[in-house]
Amino acid sequence: MLLFESKVCKMKADLHIHTVFSDGLYTIPEICDLAAEMGLAGLAFTDHDSIDSLIYYNPQELEKRYGMNFLPGVEIGTHWKGQDIHILGYNIGYNIGWFRDFLSSAQEERQKRSEKIVHLLNQQGYELNDDDVENLAKIPSVGRPHIAEILIEKGYFSRMDQVFDILLNPGKPCYVPRKTFTPFEAIEAILNSGGIPVLAHPGLLKDLSIMDDLIKHNLKGIEVYHPVHPKKTVYSLLKYTVSKDLLATGGSDFHGHGNDELGKCAVAMDVVHKIKNTKINLRESCKT
Ligand SMILES: [Zn+2]
Ligand SMILES: [Zn+2]
Repeated sequence: MLLFESKVCKMKADLHIHTVFSDGLYTIPEICDLAAEMGLAGLAFTDHDSIDSLIYYNPQELEKRYGMNFLPGVEIGTHWKGQDIHILGYNIGYNIGWFRDFLSSAQEERQKRSEKIVHLLNQQGYELNDDDVENLAKIPSVGRPHIAEILIEKGYFSRMDQVFDILLNPGKPCYVPRKTFTPFEAIEAILNSGGIPVLAHPGLLKDLSIMDDLIKHNLKGIEVYHPVHPKKTVYSLLKYTVSKDLLATGGSDFHGHGNDELGKCAVAMDVVHKIKNTKINLRESCKT
């Protein structure tokens, strides 16, 4: 019995993973093989504004094939009062037409923004040709890092942060703001699809007072465990999460770049079970 219990303790879930369906470098089977080798017991793919992976790789089929738990997930980029706020959605209704349309509108916005940035870059003398534009248009969740990569490949810069500092950050000549959802819209859409909205990596926020507002709009969890969170942040977020009776989630935010480690900040499987067992009262999302 004791042996069984200790084995259960080791079983963990990484609930924040990006794949080639947004800006990750690895495919779903590659990540699943790696996770199975590591002994992870649960995964959630949380691509930026995209649930395409769930259309191609049905979570129930993945569960059968790999013997792990898969939570249907997404990470929605939002903006509120000068801050970029990422909202994770778990157990979302990925087959619901309006929910897919909701996310597609974010994708279209990304494409329009990418085209505007390329236009500004060309005006500044950086030569991006039709092939580059065509390649960018094929990327499902195209973002500024993809454009920066092209500029690095062409030899204009050697590092991504240089491209952002000189061209792509707010106030720089090729910055284009993106029209995004508010975090409240993202929470409402996730809830209405039957999913669980969770605030991603709050440690990256300048102003944490937004958390109280998000909870008033029925946020259900906080990503307490994330690679950018120092121990002090984890402790204070955990205290806050417990005091508000929310779920404490975690994950590696794996993209497959540099120091990314799949399984880092993974959480106990009871978090996955709690998410799966939380019933969403759809009227909740109307409460303000
Ligand atoms: Zn994020
Ligand atoms: Zn992420």
